Amino acid sequence: MWVFEETLPGGEKLSEVINKTNENVKYLPGIKLGKNVIADPDLENAVKDADMLVFVSPHQFMEGICKLLSGKIKASAEGISLIKGMEVKKEGPCMISTLISNRLGINCSVLMGANIANEIAMEKFSEATVGYSQHQEVAERWVQLFTTPYFIVSAVHDVEGVELCGTLKNIVAIGAGLVDGLEMGNNTKAAIMRLGLKEMIAFSKLLFPSVKDSTFFESCGVADLITTCMGGRNRKVAEAYAKNGGKRSFDELEAEMLKGQKLQGVLTAKEVYEVLNDRGWIEKFPLFSAVNLISQGLLPPSAIVQHTHNKSRYS
Ligand code: NAD
Ligand code: 13P
Repeated sequence: MWVFEETLPGGEKLSEVINKTNENVKYLPGIKLGKNVIADPDLENAVKDADMLVFVSPHQFMEGICKLLSGKIKASAEGISLIKGMEVKKEGPCMISTLISNRLGINCSVLMGANIANEIAMEKFSEATVGYSQHQEVAERWVQLFTTPYFIVSAVHDVEGVELCGTLKNIVAIGAGLVDGLEMGNNTKAAIMRLGLKEMIAFSKLLFPSVKDSTFFESCGVADLITTCMGGRNRKVAEAYAKNGGKRSFDELEAEMLKGQKLQGVLTAKEVYEVLNDRGWIEKFPLFSAVNLISQGLLPPSAIVQHTHNKSRYS
């Protein structure tokens, strides 16, 4: 396992502490990792000779990681991305699995689902979805690799749909958190989730007409939307943002509340807004637009209901 090296407050290196204690004391304290997991701060060494590569970093670091990996991995390797996010380039939006495929010249599937990390680490039951684009036998190998009695994985032939579900639900979770911070109650939160799901489906299909309706009923779709809007980090930080009346920025709250972990929803809302603006779709996506404008400090938190409802009333 490649570990982005950090020096801990006591002066020790994170990778050394993981290898000594079998525990990621900074990002997953209290959970023992498998004995076969070795933390390696040398990226090139960690991927050397690998046949199956699992990518799971905050999405904003993937461009840099791919640059470092280019030409360093086996041409026959298979990749899978657990990363929820997208990149927007001059040519348009680019899913992270596509970035990996293009930069590294390998096939890349995705795994998404209602999968809050610390609950999985405690071996509480959950489901997940593998999305694949080409070969079913590769997807089945990933399903076999990830499945345990408490982690049930199924595969669907819709890589874009699965990845967009995981990516876009983080925007809706920011909306749900704002509603929590404003103490508006469960009915309002359900309304935001309903509209969010509608915008997730519409945006996914506009970008990739091949996306299937059935994908939204897999774990990667409605189930991940529910868990993230109930218990995720995006929800939690957005709640604090609204409680503070928008006076403290998301960056400041993220640093204080998540202690090094990263929010994906604010950046994703900004990236999606660029696509909406570029393609003339802003009017069609009032919730996604409102989340971006609120998180950039251009609208107050209360606009999550006013702005969204006024514009979507007849849709
Ligand atoms: P995180 O948000 O906890 O961020 C911390 C991680 O980022 C650490 O592993 C750290 O080493 C790494 N990091 C910090 N600076 C870095 C740099 N400059 N370059 C590279 N790495 C750096 O990370 P996470 O929760 O593991 O999320 C990673 C991806 O997995 C995201 O796309 C997220 O949406 C997705 N995901 C997370 C969860 C969850 O519950 N945590 C669940 C499902 C999917
Ligand atoms: P948060 O990043 O909001 O914690 O969501 C984690 C997740 O993706 C759960 O499936």
